[in-house]
Amino acid sequence: MGGGEQQVKWRPVIVAGLTCAVVVVLVVWLMHARQAGHWLQIHTGTINEPGPYYGFWSGFGSDIEEFGILGAIGAGIYQLVKKYNCHEPGCWRIGQHPAAGGQFLLCYRHHPDYKGRKPTHELIQRLHREHLERQAAILAKLNQVHERLTADQTPADDLPDPGAPASATEASQNHTGS
Ligand SMILES: [Zn+2]
Repeated sequence: MGGGEQQVKWRPVIVAGLTCAVVVVLVVWLMHARQAGHWLQIHTGTINEPGPYYGFWSGFGSDIEEFGILGAIGAGIYQLVKKYNCHEPGCWRIGQHPAAGGQFLLCYRHHPDYKGRKPTHELIQRLHREHLERQAAILAKLNQVHERLTADQTPADDLPDPGAPASATEASQNHTGS
């Protein structure tokens, strides 16, 4: 389990590193784009009157524009993080496990079913089984209600379906018992 622990610790670092790399690439690209634009301006003869304030406005003005773009990118990343990160306050992991019927997206560490640990094979098996049992129970209840309703509507007819829900629950119980 030592390797797994290390992987857990390294994952956020890798994610942070990748995010930084993307930002750096964007900044470099923007700078380069500006320089290329400047080069283009010089060589196409757009800049013909280099007054004393021209350099200041050209540099500073386009910087403001870049800050705007960077701000927009930053806000976009922030929104994405806000949308996909764990809903536990102060947690920056990616929340990929829905809780409370999808109301919350939580990381494995904060999901109440996982108790702060990565879901093991046994836990996955158990939760899957519990889920199936719950589904079967709900289905049986629904069938009972349906049965009662149809019985009320047509009291004379004895349909053969009422046996189906009982057998479904029995099957699931036998499955879990063994
Ligand atoms: Zn979390």
